Amino acid sequence: MGHKITLIPGDGIGPEVAKAAQRCIEATGVKIEWEVAIAGKDAVEKFGNILPDNVIESVKRNKVALKGPIGTPIGTGFRSVNVAIRHALDLYACVRPSKSYEGVRSNYKDIDLVVIRENSEDLYSGIEFEEGLPATKEIISQIEAFTKKNIRPDSGISIKPISKFATERIVRFAFEYAIRSNRKKVTVITKANIMKFTDGIFLNTARKIAQEYEGKVIFDEALVDNMAMQLVQKPHNYDVLVLPNLYGDIISDLCAGLIGGLGIAPGANIGDDMAVFEAVHGSAPKYKGLNKVNPTAMILSGVLMLRFIKEEKAADRLEKATRDVISEGKFVTYDLKTDPKDTSSVGTSEMADAIIAKLGKI
Ligand code: NAD
Repeated sequence: MGHKITLIPGDGIGPEVAKAAQRCIEATGVKIEWEVAIAGKDAVEKFGNILPDNVIESVKRNKVALKGPIGTPIGTGFRSVNVAIRHALDLYACVRPSKSYEGVRSNYKDIDLVVIRENSEDLYSGIEFEEGLPATKEIISQIEAFTKKNIRPDSGISIKPISKFATERIVRFAFEYAIRSNRKKVTVITKANIMKFTDGIFLNTARKIAQEYEGKVIFDEALVDNMAMQLVQKPHNYDVLVLPNLYGDIISDLCAGLIGGLGIAPGANIGDDMAVFEAVHGSAPKYKGLNKVNPTAMILSGVLMLRFIKEEKAADRLEKATRDVISEGKFVTYDLKTDPKDTSSVGTSEMADAIIAKLGKI
């Protein structure tokens, strides 16, 4: 019997990279029945709702989704669909592997890092108070009364909740992931020296959970600012990184930079019994419809998805086909050429064709 999987094409470059990934996944021979669910700009135009209920219902039913990026206009009060999907499905673990691929322009070689980012809390919990509103004024006066500290009246307020519950499950997830994938070390990254009551919980809980894994996985801790420097100077000293939501978002882009950019960085959002697979990159609207951007991040997200549905062989073949096409450097998108203006680069869809052709020989 085939797998039933939700496909959310997304907007901007989403539909192009999602189509490329879908074709590559199908070319592995794994039988998949796709249930297409529209979210993002197209959903606003068609249904007047950026995240129609059927999108969440479809993922709940099928337990697995492949999702293209969806844009979020900045500072308009318009909530991120990407964050909303993770929250609605309690996909608490964001897994973002950064692995070097031969043939990709980068200052580093042999990078093999995995960022595990807590997805449900922190400054991304979506609890914000807009500057000037009565509720915001009320919150400001309450905080001033409790803390005897002043907040400027023209401030907006974002809430940063970090709980023991959510930290325990993400840290345990990171250790279990490390054991499952034969990894040696988990580094917890916080700013607990300053954010004592939020990052402090994250660090102390991680220390407690780490005791359960003593002798199995090395536990290590770092401050996020220092970690940003360490990752640039000595990325090979690190293995699995576990972080609260905001730092995880930033550090995973840094790690994508170490391997040559967002075009090749895949990701997964995982909950207790379901998962949504998506690239680290966004909807890059300026490239929409140009058949130009790199489909690799989305295809490798498909590789992670194949592993999740226990199609390991197909996952290995698709990863190898992608790696081979990149290392040969012929049928690759502009960002993978030594000179980005190299006119021999191919489009999104042609790079997928080359990967499909390669799959036929593996
Ligand atoms: P972005 O990742 O969309 O693009 C930044 C730049 O990275 C692009 O201009 C391009 O130069 C490069 N890039 C990205 N993807 C690429 C690819 N596949 N191949 C080659 N180059 C690629 O980031 P942004 O411009 O900050 O965000 C655009 C929109 O996407 C925003 O609305 C943002 O909120 C949203 N976003 C969505 C997700 C998601 O769906 N999970 C993630 C991040 C950002």
